[in-house]
Amino acid sequence: MISGPLRSLLHKAHGVLLAMNPQVVFVLGGPGAGKGTQCAKIVENYSYTHLSAGDLLREERSRTGSEFGQLIDTYIKDGRIVPVEITINLLKKAMEETMKKDENKFRFLIDGFPRNEDNLQGWTRVMDGKADVKFVLFFNCGNEVCIERCLERGKSSGRTDDNKESLEKRIQTYLQSTRPIIELYEKQGKVRTIDASRSVSEVFADVKSVFDREG
Ligand code: UDP
Ligand code: MG
Repeated sequence: MISGPLRSLLHKAHGVLLAMNPQVVFVLGGPGAGKGTQCAKIVENYSYTHLSAGDLLREERSRTGSEFGQLIDTYIKDGRIVPVEITINLLKKAMEETMKKDENKFRFLIDGFPRNEDNLQGWTRVMDGKADVKFVLFFNCGNEVCIERCLERGKSSGRTDDNKESLEKRIQTYLQSTRPIIELYEKQGKVRTIDASRSVSEVFADVKSVFDREG
C-alpha cells in the first residue's frame, strides 16, 4: 500500500506531467527555403505535429463565414504579415485541439512564425508560460534559390503569392522583418542553422542530426 504523503506526491507529479506545456520548435527561413517540405519529413521520423501558420491562414481565408477572409487574402498576395491577433488564435486553437485529442501530442513544429516583431509580441502575450520554445530551426537559403523554387512551385501550387510580383514583396518582408527575429533568437543561442540551398535529402540529413541531438 502506498502511504498517504507518498500517494499525494505521486498524484502531484502525475498532475505536472499531464499539465506539460507544449514543446515548440519555430521553423523559419525565406519563402521557398523548404520549411514545409522538411517539416513533413520531421513528422515522419519524430513525434512532432506540424502547424504551418501560412496553411492555417489559408484555411481561415476560405472558411465560410470567416470575418478575416478578405484581409488575409490581401495580406498574402502583398507578402505582408497578417496582424498577430488572427494568427495566434489559429495557432493556439490548433495546439489545444491536437493535445485534447491525444495528450501525448505536445511537440509542435510551428512553421513560418514568428515572422516579425508583432508576431513575436503576440506570441509572448498569449503563450508566455504556456508553451516552451525549445529552439528555432532556421533554413538558410539565398534569395535567388528561394525565388526560383517558388516560381517552380507556382506552376502547380495554385497559390496566389507564388508569382514574381508577390515574391519580390515576400523576400523584402523576410529580409526586413523576419531576419531580425532570427537574429534576436540567435543572440539567445536558440538558433540551429541549416544550409537549405541543397537537395531535400542533404538538408534533411542535417535536420536529423539536430533532432537526434535535441529533438
Ligand atoms: N503569413 C502571415 N503570418 C504568418 C505566416 C504567414 O501573415 O505567421 C502570410 C504572409 O503573407 C506570408 C504568407 O502567409 O507571405 C505565406 O506564408 P507561408 O509560410 O505559407 O509561405 P512559405 O514561406 O512557406 O513559402
Ligand atoms: Mg510553407
